[in-house]
Amino acid sequence: MTTILDWPGYRVYRHEIDEAGRTLKLWVRRKRGNRVLICSGCGGRAHKIEEVRQREVRDLPWRKYQAIVHVEYYRIRCPKCGLKVEQVAQLPSKAPFSRDFEDAVGLACESAAARQVARQFGLAASTVRAIDLRYLERWTKSRKKPVLRQMGVDEIFLGKTQKFLTVVSNLETGEPLWFGADRKEETLDEFFRTQLSGMQRSRISAACVDMWEPFTKSILKWVADCRIVFDKFHVMQHANKAVDEVRRAEFFRKGGPMRGLVKGKRWLLLSRWVNLDGKKRQLLNDLFRLNRRMMKAYLLKESLDRLWTYSYERAANRYLNQWIDQLRWQRLEPFKKLAVMLLRHLEGILNYCRVKVPFGVVEAVNGNIKSLLRRGRGYKNLRYLLLKAQRMAVLKTEFVVFRKAA
Ligand SMILES: [Zn+2]
Repeated sequence: MTTILDWPGYRVYRHEIDEAGRTLKLWVRRKRGNRVLICSGCGGRAHKIEEVRQREVRDLPWRKYQAIVHVEYYRIRCPKCGLKVEQVAQLPSKAPFSRDFEDAVGLACESAAARQVARQFGLAASTVRAIDLRYLERWTKSRKKPVLRQMGVDEIFLGKTQKFLTVVSNLETGEPLWFGADRKEETLDEFFRTQLSGMQRSRISAACVDMWEPFTKSILKWVADCRIVFDKFHVMQHANKAVDEVRRAEFFRKGGPMRGLVKGKRWLLLSRWVNLDGKKRQLLNDLFRLNRRMMKAYLLKESLDRLWTYSYERAANRYLNQWIDQLRWQRLEPFKKLAVMLLRHLEGILNYCRVKVPFGVVEAVNGNIKSLLRRGRGYKNLRYLLLKAQRMAVLKTEFVVFRKAA
């Protein structure tokens, strides 16, 4: 029994089998040679045993038998903390489960929803989530955190009540690092203040953000020589919006057959030309033949994309100016607004020439978080959501990369 149970340093000294109830009860205590006592408060060594106690935990099943282990443990006198419970590897928390059992549940949670895991193990879904959270906390405590050199900051809209969530991520590893409620300058300030030392902050060389000013302000306040790079994805989203505004204006301006032609083309107009097959390109060409303004808008959006192919700031700047020159006499108001916005954020757009931050990571991290939120309702606890998303990024499971706009 001791061999099968395989708890290092512990031996089975009594057992009971209930065949009808399909349960196996085991009583275990320390092996004679196992004398090292560790304080659960400080992790230091203790020598004096004050009291012997017993706890009951559920362990991994033995074939069809549910295993319940009665563990003998000590209350000890720690030189630093006083009277404390000793630390036992197989007793990770006050909950009635062994560590092996919790690890099995946590592992199952990596590929299935809490509700399914609950059914599999015969537990309540809330219990499964609590076990999973402890499993993830143990994992994060034991791992080495990668250095933060390039950070991404973005927000997720959670809904009308919780509003926004600020998400800070490590662009090199593609994992989220921190969540903050709201998306104010102070929100991001809190990240820099509570999560990083001065040394860690000084290692950050670049930040990929959208054009949300509170974030940029906060970053430059805390990391003075950080290069801000505006996310291409977000800039292109603005370009797509401009195309859409032109489309809507044309729809209402022109009546009759033109309306029919513009109708239902929204998705087509927002797609990149390279991603369209011959039939869809033909549909767009039909539209462009009849409406020059739509064509111009589409070409402007498509050509803006090239701005991110330059390696020299001066060349990129020249390209952007040429692009803006094309707007003259076009009466494309949404694009004029876009041009003003691009010029206002010029430095952060051209910074990409010097620091090639990986675009798309921020969106992928966001996509993962959203898919977690969609799948389970158990993420009112933001700490749990963060650990779960981190674990996902490290395991590279379901890593959705959004390429549509970027
Ligand atoms: Zn102690």
